[in-house]
Amino acid sequence: MLNNYDNAFYERRRLLIESLRRRGNLSEEVLDAMLKLPREKFLDSSFHFRAYEDTALPIDANQTISQPYTVAYMTTLLDVKKGGKVLEIGTGSGYQACILALLGAKVYTIERIPELVEKARKVFKEFGLKINTRVGDGTIGWSEFAPYQGIIVTAAAPDVPDSLMEQLALGGRLVVPVGTKSYQSMYLIERKSEKDYNKSSTDSFKFVPLIGKEGWKTG
Ligand code: SAM
Repeated sequence: MLNNYDNAFYERRRLLIESLRRRGNLSEEVLDAMLKLPREKFLDSSFHFRAYEDTALPIDANQTISQPYTVAYMTTLLDVKKGGKVLEIGTGSGYQACILALLGAKVYTIERIPELVEKARKVFKEFGLKINTRVGDGTIGWSEFAPYQGIIVTAAAPDVPDSLMEQLALGGRLVVPVGTKSYQSMYLIERKSEKDYNKSSTDSFKFVPLIGKEGWKTG
């Protein structure tokens, strides 16, 4: 399934990755992983023809698969190391989790909507990727497997969840969109020591809300 360059979508995928590459601020390794992964497999068949537009698209339960540029940008910021443990909050379609796995990370992903997890598990199996999934509130992290070298939140948080800061390994990186429900800045938080964190923020994005104990209370 992966590396299947004969399918009708490959050329469109290649053109999309080329256009992302021209933006100049994205990791080559991440773009290579995106070139291997057929995005249409994460979408309902009625959206296959739009799979290689650089845009977020609807998935089940009124949620979205993120825009390819956003996936590439956040994954570049995360700076995934082979064999490193990465926690993703917001499995959604499973696309971002697969990119992390293709980069060699040990992936743990949490989603609050059970039907999305069910569907994502099927895609992971189809691609032969071993990804640990859980249905639940990701704002409180997944303490059993902490600490994580990387944590990526793919929904909009009102503030950085304390639990995720605590579950970050020393030297680890947390990437999370923080702001209002209408728009968010992308935060990169690096854990320098037990108590010291470096925080920086860049460009604005628009995500669906992160709903939970340390997120928004409602959608
Ligand atoms: N990463 C996904 C992908 O590759 O398709 C896109 C994620 S979508 C933009 C955001 C997801 O976060 C939604 O599926 C939503 O249900 C989920 N979500 C929102 N709040 C959550 C929470 N507290 N814990 C886990 N998942 C949450």
